[in-house]
Amino acid sequence: MGNYDKELAVAIAAVREAAKVCRSVQVTISSDALEKKDKSPVTVADFASQALVCRALQDAFADDPVIGEEDAAALRGDDGAAFRARVFAELKPFGVASEDAALALIDRGGAQEYSSRFWTLDPIDGTKGFLRGDQYAVALALVVDGVLTVAAMACPNLPSKGANGDETGTVFWAVRGEGAFHGALDGGGSAVARVSGESTIAETRLCESFESGHSSHDHSAQLMAKLGISADPVRLDSQAKYGVVARGDAEAYLRLPTRPGYREKIWDHGAGCLIVQEAGGTVTDVTGKPLDFTKGRELTENRGVIVTHGPFHDQILETLARLGVK
Ligand code: AMP
Ligand code: MG
Repeated sequence: MGNYDKELAVAIAAVREAAKVCRSVQVTISSDALEKKDKSPVTVADFASQALVCRALQDAFADDPVIGEEDAAALRGDDGAAFRARVFAELKPFGVASEDAALALIDRGGAQEYSSRFWTLDPIDGTKGFLRGDQYAVALALVVDGVLTVAAMACPNLPSKGANGDETGTVFWAVRGEGAFHGALDGGGSAVARVSGESTIAETRLCESFESGHSSHDHSAQLMAKLGISADPVRLDSQAKYGVVARGDAEAYLRLPTRPGYREKIWDHGAGCLIVQEAGGTVTDVTGKPLDFTKGRELTENRGVIVTHGPFHDQILETLARLGVK
């Protein structure tokens, strides 16, 4: 392994800065906009977040491709003018010079293909959580020769569990082979992230997507019945679920396929996966295969995702197989 100190420092600073722009947009969301199902705030924050992370990566690692969720096509031309102006208005206080500069930064995240060294970015993971004022994450991971190597993830609405008590906002990070850590998003500090030591399956605390369209709630209920797990699953948006398992607040995160054709996106899993692995946990798909980050934008070789603190991983996989989950 090389030395990834610089990559880690840049990644943490980048997700922290991006979280600031996300928060500044989130406070403007009115209950009125929510009722009207106005998705424009998350669109603005998504683009602004991607621009800031891509700027940080460009300044430090100009040659590294970034496979991000967004590209700036929708912001160009007359049709994009209103959104372009809103995105730029958010970015100006961060020193972005012009609308064109903003578009160029966003497009830095438009890599499509696998390469021997690339970053993958979800500028706002959990867009529905963002709109509801619930959980969301800015998730960034570096993949080197197909292996998750560095991860940083900001969870602006997740209580931190620091020496100073809970503050709102947590950042998680990890480097392969060096462990996982968490700290307050604003206050700093760091603590080792370690998965739970719980050892009875009936006591397992599960988490899953808030949205039943992203993970089958029916199948998780069937699994719980089979394994005698009685506590209700905690439902939250975004890769914050990986963080919750990594710091021992839950024993498992289930992402059970809702339809056969869906392929998980690499930016929805890269950062969280490394953080849980470095915290001592196990991540596979529902068939038990490791997640394969060598196929471009999607985890084409995988179906669903199972994340656990370890001891019951195989038992969960076997039970899901018996339930016909695939
Ligand atoms: P979560 O907040 O964990 O529910 O996950 C949010 C992510 O779910 C989004 O970033 C989407 O990329 C992803 N997503 C969208 N449709 C599906 C689907 N049918 N199955 C699984 N994930 C999906
Ligand atoms: Mg996402």
